[in-house]
Amino acid sequence: MIQLKNFINGEFLNPIQNQWLDNYNPSNGSIYGQLPNSCLKDVNFAYEAAKKAFESWSNTPIEKRSAILLKIASLIDDNLDRFAEAESKDNGKPISVAKRLDVPRAASNFRFFGHAITQFQSESHETKSEKTINYTLRHPLGVVGCISPWNLPLYLLTWKIAPALAAGNCVIAKPSEITPYTAFLLGEICNKAGLPKGVLNIIHGKGANAGQAIIEHVHIKAISFTGGTETGKIIARTAAPMFKKLSLELGGKNPNIIFADCDYEKMLISTVKSSFSNQGQICLCGSRIFVEASIFDQFKTDFIKCVSKLIVGPPSNKSTQIGALVSKAHYEKVLSFIDRVGSDGSKLLYGGKRVHVKDHEGGYYLTPTIVQVESNSCQLNQEEIFGPVVTIMPFESESQVLEMANDVKYGLSATVWTNNLKRSLFFSEHLECGIVWVNTWMQRDLRTPFGGVKSSGLGREGGFEVLRFFSETKNICINYK
Ligand code: NDP
Repeated sequence: MIQLKNFINGEFLNPIQNQWLDNYNPSNGSIYGQLPNSCLKDVNFAYEAAKKAFESWSNTPIEKRSAILLKIASLIDDNLDRFAEAESKDNGKPISVAKRLDVPRAASNFRFFGHAITQFQSESHETKSEKTINYTLRHPLGVVGCISPWNLPLYLLTWKIAPALAAGNCVIAKPSEITPYTAFLLGEICNKAGLPKGVLNIIHGKGANAGQAIIEHVHIKAISFTGGTETGKIIARTAAPMFKKLSLELGGKNPNIIFADCDYEKMLISTVKSSFSNQGQICLCGSRIFVEASIFDQFKTDFIKCVSKLIVGPPSNKSTQIGALVSKAHYEKVLSFIDRVGSDGSKLLYGGKRVHVKDHEGGYYLTPTIVQVESNSCQLNQEEIFGPVVTIMPFESESQVLEMANDVKYGLSATVWTNNLKRSLFFSEHLECGIVWVNTWMQRDLRTPFGGVKSSGLGREGGFEVLRFFSETKNICINYK
């Protein structure tokens, strides 16, 4: 049994009340370890460590902060296999995905913000006629909270921690209780890289206890949260009256709009990925597929053919393309959506079945699932399933598909497939979301702003946007007449 610990003040500690949670391996449903069930006392203890470290860390020269972040990046690279095995075991994702996507991106997050902070400028504005000069100071906030979900555990945790640290803050982070393993390993790496004690503290436990204690802490100045929309509402309700800075990256129900004039082969390969990568458990997956009526039947046939070739299997197998869903509770939730197929005129085209994998009988495996729907207003199109389930439906005109794409409470991302330049510009402007991909999917440049509109969130992370989020801005005006 692996016993994970909290990482506070550079040390690995048991939870103060000595309470523990079980950690499950979704590939076979077994318990393989324990993690701290931390409480307010652990958060307060971490806060004291972070507060003590802040004075020195915030005054550490940028070059030195940058060098430590770059060192963490290199050490993650050096430990690729170890991190990937832990991530795959904890989350159920294919080991190949952890190796290709999650772990390299965690290293990139540290590397990118290690470099970005050296280029983060403050502005000055001179008005000669009035003989004034304004300049802007950007100071670190103090101690900040970073709370992340289970779908891309290390990738999303480091996406928050790296810019917060780069900007000179000290951090209390809480990974999802469902996938704590790689966050635990990160503590060790940070010590090796020479990150001073107390600068980063990682608390494990339940959202409702440890997470809520971070949100409610009077002296934690900002919260960067990625997770579900309902949790986002709870966080906003708590943190807003305290006037904390808030960045909320929430759920999505993203449209994938396919026009007949697209590069068909490229679109088909990419649509299989945007539908089922990471078992469909990526907030950016295109779960509502709209296809121009003239190619709908052809697309349906080809898409089913491609999807039926995807290999569902144990995450540790190199050939596996679809691993296990993350937990029993999530598996049941996804299956409950599939149970509803047929009740509203929808039709199961492919999949929708539990898969029994040899020697992994207790695992949470599901065939990738394609459902044809009659209307965009059905539950399957309106609610976030966050699993390997996509819907498809035909459309007749630009105006019809634009209206359907926007007719949902979420607004994270959208994909448009067309070779018509005017059309791609029109859709890019009018789709209600934070990110539009034209003729591609999930191509990420870390310099770009990232976030959603409507119920998909508040604020933008990425690039200088997130460095601004993690800084307090002050304007100084000097008259030199
Ligand atoms: P949850 O909202 O359940 O949890 C996210 C994190 O918040 C976890 O660490 C959780 O802890 C914690 N948490 C739960 N309740 C509270 C609380 N009251 N106070 C503080 N923290 C709390 O999301 P999931 O982990 O289920 O992740 C899936 C969701 O994340 C999907 O909706 C998905 O769309 C969204 N997501 C959004 C992304 C984006 O960039 N917009 C990217 C990736 C995912 P614990 O797990 O221990 O309960």
